[in-house]
Amino acid sequence: MHDLRKAARSAADLATDHLACVAEGPVWRPVPEADRTWLTRQPLPAGGRPLTDLLDEVRDRILPYPMGNGHPRFFGWVNSPPSPAGVLTAPLAAAMNPSCAGGDHAGVLLERTAVRWLAELVGFPHRTGGGLLTSGASMATVVALATARHQALRDQGHDVRETGLYGQRPLALYVSAEAHSCLRKAAELLGLGTRHLRTVPVDAAFRMDTGELRRLIAADRRAGVRPFFVAASAGTVNTGAVDPLDDIAVIAAEHGLWYHIDGAYGALGILAQDAALRYAGLERANSLALDPHKWLGVPVDAGCVLFREPAGARDAFSLVPPYLRDDDAGELGWFSEYGTEQTRPFRALRVWATIAHLGRDGIVRLVQHTSALARTLAELVEASYDFELLAPTVTSIVAFRHRPPNLDTDRVEALNKAIPAAVQRRGRTFLTGTQLSGAAALRACILHPDTTEDDLALLLREIRVAAREVTA
Ligand SMILES: *Cc1c(COP(=O)(O)O)cnc(C)c1O
Repeated sequence: MHDLRKAARSAADLATDHLACVAEGPVWRPVPEADRTWLTRQPLPAGGRPLTDLLDEVRDRILPYPMGNGHPRFFGWVNSPPSPAGVLTAPLAAAMNPSCAGGDHAGVLLERTAVRWLAELVGFPHRTGGGLLTSGASMATVVALATARHQALRDQGHDVRETGLYGQRPLALYVSAEAHSCLRKAAELLGLGTRHLRTVPVDAAFRMDTGELRRLIAADRRAGVRPFFVAASAGTVNTGAVDPLDDIAVIAAEHGLWYHIDGAYGALGILAQDAALRYAGLERANSLALDPHKWLGVPVDAGCVLFREPAGARDAFSLVPPYLRDDDAGELGWFSEYGTEQTRPFRALRVWATIAHLGRDGIVRLVQHTSALARTLAELVEASYDFELLAPTVTSIVAFRHRPPNLDTDRVEALNKAIPAAVQRRGRTFLTGTQLSGAAALRACILHPDTTEDDLALLLREIRVAAREVTA
């Protein structure tokens, strides 16, 4: 124990030094060959070593090569810096090391509060048992879609857990062209097949076109396919667009569809100034996926799925073998009865600590700050002769393109494809690219509480320099 105490103090210093210095270093740097070899090719050690030795290697060979998302000038994908409260409590969760499958201990009890707080933050109606923490939104989506599938077939008098999908009339599900790939993965995994996954076109603002949704549902009905599930996005990865949630709720109710909302990244955007109206209808979903490890900054992993009705997920997943049977499990049973995981980590401690540390007010400030910066970046882009804004900025993601004058379309396309890697190599800032309406685009996602307006100006300068490097 003395060994651990001493090493733990050093580890705390390493972690806080890392966080304190991260903004001064490069956002990202390539791993030199010697360290790459060490990271990937170490032989299995026959004997062990003292804990403090390991820390030296962490300091010298691991901490210098982060992905970049702790840095205030990291604008890639949707990856936030870690919340201080999350960093603080992660080792404590490991020290307790419970399985939050179930039982009667602090880990499972605190998860009730963490889940309810997330629901309350985004204004989703909550009943105890109506949700659980997951590894991320991908798993949250699997849990939600499996629940919807189970219910849809039960309504037809079938138990999918017994018969599978064999002999069933095809079930159709609807997602927008801008939906996250995790929906497709979940559909494939659950045997629904992509043949009946309908991609609903989007409007000019990259929101689901509800007229097209209606048309696709009608076509399926005529063809004898049963529509059963629609997923809206509250914050797409490409542009941060929020689908017309209320209109989709009306259509879902009319056709008896399960209504799922992917708010993995953007559900918290409801807390931004004047955003509430845009999110109207979020509270009408049957299920909502949201990721505390995105905008909220809870260290990875922390996802969450919320259900309007707690019973559905338990019907779809509950399986209690005799060696687990606990007759004192209470009315709600175990968390493991509501999803795929059996042994479950103590994610709730990081989620609870992050929300408790910031408070609702602090979270509102974080969302406002990052959303306001995104609007500022959009204004900078629009005011520039060589940048073009590609989508309205409604959350904290800005989709744009570099378009130096006198370049033809093909060269603009090639340039924008090459820019992200070139910017990343330079190490001063980090952004990633995407495809929008079939053309290469740049996107910046702002999640860091310490990002400033100067960082945004630097981002545009770096893109120009990187573009000249690529062209030369
Ligand atoms: C990140 C993300 C997902 C996938 O969630 P994971 O936590 O990576 O599993 C799904 N949808 C959106 C909009 C996301 O941003």
